[in-house]
Amino acid sequence: MIPSKGYAAQSATSDLAPWNFERRTLGPHDVQFDIQFCGVCHSDLHQIKDDWGGSIYPMVPGHEIVGKVVQVGSHVTKFKVGDIAGTGCLVDSCRSCDNCKEGLEQYCLKGRTDTYNALGQDGVTPTYGGYSDSIVVHEDFVLHISDKLDLAAVAPLLCAGITTYSPLRHWKVGKGHKLAVLGLGGLGHMAVKFGVSFGAEVTVLSTSASKEADAKKLGAHNFVVTSDEAQLTSVAGTFDFILDTVSAPHDLNLYLSLLRVNGVHICVGVPPTPYQVHAFSLIGGRRSLAGSLIGGLPETQEMLDYCAEHGIVSEIEMIDIKNIHEAYHRMEKGDVRYRFVIDMATL
Ligand code: NAP
Ligand code: ZN
Ligand code: ZN
Repeated sequence: MIPSKGYAAQSATSDLAPWNFERRTLGPHDVQFDIQFCGVCHSDLHQIKDDWGGSIYPMVPGHEIVGKVVQVGSHVTKFKVGDIAGTGCLVDSCRSCDNCKEGLEQYCLKGRTDTYNALGQDGVTPTYGGYSDSIVVHEDFVLHISDKLDLAAVAPLLCAGITTYSPLRHWKVGKGHKLAVLGLGGLGHMAVKFGVSFGAEVTVLSTSASKEADAKKLGAHNFVVTSDEAQLTSVAGTFDFILDTVSAPHDLNLYLSLLRVNGVHICVGVPPTPYQVHAFSLIGGRRSLAGSLIGGLPETQEMLDYCAEHGIVSEIEMIDIKNIHEAYHRMEKGDVRYRFVIDMATL
């Protein structure tokens, strides 16, 4: 076994604190990489607090992981020592179901293995995430990272990036479409960048009037403060797509009314409580309510390559790991600009 150190939550109510644990000894197809940077996703906070139920402790969060390969198993062909590597939200899946065979490992029919707060495919071994010094992952679940971009700003692409890229690609959002991005946080700001890059007219729908200048800098064409009724009314029935990245409970019926006929409201945010949707909100405009979960391995690599080619990275605020609770506190207030990234050298 490989001795490792990280930051872990011991229960839903305890603060994160230093914790020593072990990574598995490398199998023939395993890659070990030292973690240089790890992004802080709102899902980390949801899972630490057990917002969604079923959390496993001790929990080492973190699924936006980049670093340098330090060891490879005897049969590894895709990576060598010294390569820059990344891992996102997935570290394994059954690899044999129809979805896995299609590269949609996130929808594995037998149950995917998340990077943390999950059990391995053996059903017993817990997984530990990126708030740690190094990680061991099967080479099929490790991504190649270009050295063209700032590595710390690339880390958030592994979750915030792919989670917004994947639905925009699936629904072929682009030129001629009006896209609204609901919530300008980690996911939201990446949705703006991709939406603009794909040619859509992008409107940010935000609770924070103070984010307007940033939204425009990110490339958004319009900005609407959702608490301002007049502003909301002015965009009623206008959007082809709404990409909903909000982490807290909110009224979907209100936002569905902003969609035009045939419009699609795509949920990626996962508030702790279920939505209540009135049938009239959908039938009144033949609207669809949809959802999307991260992205599979082939599409994640495609997204990373697209970002390298187009110079797309996350807007980040680098933090020392000992300040993680302050970062969570700001995240809960919607005050993230626009992704915290932990400098793992501070561990
Ligand atoms: P984040 O950085 O905290 O951003 C969330 C944004 O939502 C906030 O910045 C805020 O933007 C807005 N917001 C917060 N509270 C709100 C409220 N009460 N009403 C309306 N808007 C509110 O979080 P994130 O890391 O982007 O994650 C967002 C959500 O996506 C989380 O629930 C996370 O678990 C989920 N997620 C899902 C997937 C997936 O695969 N589907 C992957 C990753 C994350 P404004 O200030 O602009 O209003
Ligand atoms: Zn995430
Ligand atoms: Zn599968």
